[in-house]
Amino acid sequence: MLIVLTKDITPQQKNAILSVLREGNAMFREITDAGQSIIGATGTAGHDLSYFRLLPGVDRVVPVDTAFKLVSRQLHPEDSRVKVGDVLVGGERIVVIAGPCAVESRDQVMAIAREVRRYGAVLFRGGAFKPRTSPYSFQGMGEDGLKILAEVKQVFGMPVVTEITSPAQADLVMKYVDVVQIGARNMQNFELLKSVGRLGKPVLLKRGLSATIEEWLMSAEYILAEGNENVILCERGIRTFEPYTRNTLDLSAIPVIKKLTHLPVIIDPSHATGSREKVSPMARAAVAAGADGLMIEVHNDPDQATSDGAQSLYPEQFGHLMRDLYVIAPVVDKQVDFGYLDKAKTVEGMARAAGGKGRRAAFLGDVGSFSHKACEQFFGDQVEPLPVESFRGLFEAVKSEACDFGIVPLENSLAGSVHENYDLLLEYDLRIVGEITLRIRHNLIGHPGARVDDIRRIYSHPQVFQQCRQFLERHGNWDLVSVTDTARAVRHIKEKGDAAEAAIAGKDAAALFGMTLLEESIETNPKNFTRFVIIGRESMRNGDRKKSSIIFSTGNQPGSLFRVLKIFADSNVNLVKLESRPIHGKPWEYMFYVDLEADVEAPDFGEIRMQLEGSVEYLKILGSY
Ligand code: PEP
Ligand code: MN
Repeated sequence: MLIVLTKDITPQQKNAILSVLREGNAMFREITDAGQSIIGATGTAGHDLSYFRLLPGVDRVVPVDTAFKLVSRQLHPEDSRVKVGDVLVGGERIVVIAGPCAVESRDQVMAIAREVRRYGAVLFRGGAFKPRTSPYSFQGMGEDGLKILAEVKQVFGMPVVTEITSPAQADLVMKYVDVVQIGARNMQNFELLKSVGRLGKPVLLKRGLSATIEEWLMSAEYILAEGNENVILCERGIRTFEPYTRNTLDLSAIPVIKKLTHLPVIIDPSHATGSREKVSPMARAAVAAGADGLMIEVHNDPDQATSDGAQSLYPEQFGHLMRDLYVIAPVVDKQVDFGYLDKAKTVEGMARAAGGKGRRAAFLGDVGSFSHKACEQFFGDQVEPLPVESFRGLFEAVKSEACDFGIVPLENSLAGSVHENYDLLLEYDLRIVGEITLRIRHNLIGHPGARVDDIRRIYSHPQVFQQCRQFLERHGNWDLVSVTDTARAVRHIKEKGDAAEAAIAGKDAAALFGMTLLEESIETNPKNFTRFVIIGRESMRNGDRKKSSIIFSTGNQPGSLFRVLKIFADSNVNLVKLESRPIHGKPWEYMFYVDLEADVEAPDFGEIRMQLEGSVEYLKILGSY
C-alpha cells in the first residue's frame, strides 16, 4: 500500500506511523513524488488499509494492485539505478556488458577483454559455472575461472558478471565478482533467489525460457524481499514455435517493464537469436526501444568456443555495433560513452588528490534543464552538479576553483552557435576536456488541465524560441518571455499558478515540477541537437583523444587563411568545424575557431603544430578530447 502523508504532518506523527510498520515487520520505503511524501509499505502484518487511513498525518491510503510490491513502480515512481563499481545501470548512459559465453582459459579471456574494453564495453561477462543442456558438455572452469575474471577486473578496470547456479557457490562469487547472474533456467529457483538476495551484490536476473513478465517480476520480488534492491532485469528471448531463431526476443517487454517497475532492464540479443548475424540488428533495436543496456557474447575465435560460438560476435563486429549504438542512443535521450571507465578513474583520482572531496560541475540554470542533463550524461553520479546564473559565472566558477568542470553549450543544429561562449573560451585560460551531444526535444508545458487555446504567455530560453520558430509562428498572439534556462521557465509558471502561462522545455523539467505536456516535440525539425563541451582547468584522460579545438588569427594579407588551411589539407587532417568571431576592439579582424579530428597534443602532431605556429599570428589550443 501507499500511505500518502499530509503536507503538515509533524515529526511525531510520522514516527508513530513508522513504528507501527517496524513493529509489524513491514517492508517499507519513503518516497517523495512531485513534492508529496509517501510511504510505500508491504507485508503490514495485522493491519489493513483502513487502520492506516485513521492514523494522524495520513492523507489517504492507496492499495498497490499488482502481485509484486517492492519492484512495483507504484511504490517507487523514479527509475532505480544499480551501481556496479563506477558504472550506473539504469542511468543516462547505455551499459554494455560483453565477453565470452564461458571462461575457457586465461589467454582467451584476457584477449577478449582487451578488445571489448577498447570498443566501449564497461562490464565484462564470462561463465565459470555453466548450466548446460547436456551433462556431457563443458561445465565451466569453476573457481579457476572466477580467478581469471578477477584478473580482468584488475587489469582492465571492468567490473565482472558471472552466473551462479547453486547457493553453494555464494562464497566464491562474493569473493571474485561484482554482479551475480541468475540464468534463464534458474529464474524460478527460489532458494537461489533468496540466497542472492542475502548476498547484497547486484544481481542480473534473466527472464526464464517460458516465463511471463509477471512471473519474472515475482522472481525479482524474491530478491528485493531479502533486502537486496540491486536487481537488473535481462530479457534474453523466450521459447516459441519459431525455429529460425534460438528463442524469440521479446522487445515489447521493455516498455511493459518500464511501466510496471522501477528496475533497469537490459537485453541479451545473443541468447535470444542464437546466431551472429542477428545479434547486431536486435541490439540496435533494443537501444531504440529504451533498454538500459545490453549483454553481448564476443569471442576472438568463435569456431573453437566451448559454448555458443555461433552467436558470438567477432571483436571487430562488436566495435561496429558500438559505433552504431553511439549514433542511436541520443535519439532516445541516452548516450554511449566511450570514455566511461577512464573518465570515472580520472575524476576519482582528482577527488583523492583533493583529500576525498567530491568534484563539482557548474551548469547554467536549474535542475531539469538541458545543461543539467548534459552534466548527468557526461559524468553520471561522479560529480555534484552546481547551478550558476550566467555563462560568465560558469567560467568564473571553474577558474576560481569553486568548481572543477563547467558544462558549456556551444552550438545547436537548428539555431547555430552560442557566440557568447565562443568569446569566453578565448578570454579564459581553461581547457576543453570533453564533449557531449544531446538530442533536444521541446514540449509546450502547462498546468494540469490547461488548454492550449487559453495560453497567452510563454517562458523559455531565447535559443529555444528559435528552435521552435514554426510552432510559435502558428500562435503569433503569444507573448514570449526570455529566461536563463528551460527548467526555470517551468518552475516560474508553476509558482505563478496562472493557467494562461506555459513554458517550453524538456520532459524532465515537466515531470520535476508536476506539470503537463500540452504539446510534444514542437521543435521545427526532429534533428535538433545541441553540442556541449566540458571545460576544466587541466586536460583529463578519458579515453582516446580523437578531436581537438583550437583558436587562431592570421595577418590581413591575401592567402593567409588559405596557407593555414593548406597545412591541414597537406597533412590529411580533417576539419569538422570552422567558425569566425570578431576580435573585440579590432573592427573587421577575426579569430578562427577550428575543430579538427586529431590529437594536437600528441607527439606525432608536433611537426604540423610547428608549421601552424609559423603561419598564424595567434594560436590557442583549447584542448584535445
Ligand atoms: C549465459 O548468459 O551464458 C546464459 C547461459 O544465458 P541464459 O541463462 O539466458 O541462457
Ligand atoms: Mn552463452
